[in-house]
Amino acid sequence: MNRTERLYYQDCYLREFEARVVVSEPGPRGWRVVLDRTAFYPDSGGQPADRGTLSGLPVVDVIDEGDAIAHIVESRLDAPNVTGRIDWERRLDHMQQHTGQHLLSAAFEQAGEYKTVSFHLGAEASTIDLDSDRLSRRQMDEAEDLANGIIYEDREVQISFASAEEAARLGLRKPTEREGEIRIVEVRDFDRSACGGTHVSRTGAVGLILVRRFERLKGLTRVEFVCGRRALKTARRDCLTLTEAARLFSGALDNVPALITKQSEELRAALRAREKLVKRLAEYEAREIWSASIERGGRRILSRVFAAEDYDEAKMLAHALTRQPTTVALIGVKGEPAALFFAQTPGGAADMGSILKQTVMKVGGKGGGARDFAQGGGLDEERLEEALTLAEGLLDA
Ligand SMILES: [Zn+2]
Repeated sequence: MNRTERLYYQDCYLREFEARVVVSEPGPRGWRVVLDRTAFYPDSGGQPADRGTLSGLPVVDVIDEGDAIAHIVESRLDAPNVTGRIDWERRLDHMQQHTGQHLLSAAFEQAGEYKTVSFHLGAEASTIDLDSDRLSRRQMDEAEDLANGIIYEDREVQISFASAEEAARLGLRKPTEREGEIRIVEVRDFDRSACGGTHVSRTGAVGLILVRRFERLKGLTRVEFVCGRRALKTARRDCLTLTEAARLFSGALDNVPALITKQSEELRAALRAREKLVKRLAEYEAREIWSASIERGGRRILSRVFAAEDYDEAKMLAHALTRQPTTVALIGVKGEPAALFFAQTPGGAADMGSILKQTVMKVGGKGGGARDFAQGGGLDEERLEEALTLAEGLLDA
């Protein structure tokens, strides 16, 4: 059994190292390389794996296999010894998020005895799940303030090793089930937990912890947060978004919510007014179209195709036309897909629902309705004229 010495256990700031190649073989996802020692952190404990290179070959994944750590490189690696280089920007980012997580989890525990049950370090943001769904906004702010206070004090973050019994005696925030030697990460006079991850050496390097949002799940609260450079980037992006919104509303940043509320109300009122007008317009149009039409066999048949943007108007017109005496309205509306409205003055001789069904059966689409009003859709707009001609023929069938 190969055992890899984990250099990051002792020194999280090691970016470059020399190692002996123990295994180098083809694997399902690339070339699998095991070294006698490595500074590469494997995907575990919620923290994603490092990236970097082994003698210039890109490392695409790092897997914790128990005793050994496997590096997956893109292509064949033949050398007996390698120089490993860690993608430092990515690693430092992970160290900031992970250390921030310790601070935030400890803060939630101190502020309200909320325990962290899981941690996920994502590409955009990280989350912790707390063991209660009863947290208030105020408690959230309190924990965030407390954790950030520890950052301002720039406390030391120490790594030590102890046996399981010693660790239990010292007291850990989260008890571990690991046996043998336990790695302990301690934020001086604030938090002590068992952890195999990578952390910054002083809390000041976390920079800032910014809680972005929280949602209540069944029995849990999921807290989303960003730390360090991510917090800066996120705050900058948020501010840009807000500034853009304020510019669009011609207002101040702080007034954006009020401006949105005001505009939404105005929009609702405008839509209501428009609907009223369209309805009235449809009545006028209906009368006009009706007077201009010719009576045939005791009724007036009005057939017309409307543009897609006049959908509401067309539908209202169909209704309005049926308020005229002995009328049949066959209305098509363009669009993708197109729509049909067939209507008649109540009590008319034809069956609109049946005619619509027969029409869409021939031209495509679907629909149906009652005897005096039916509607359909889903047909190609190129076939609207054909549909109306067809329906007109069916009226006398
Ligand atoms: Zn940790």
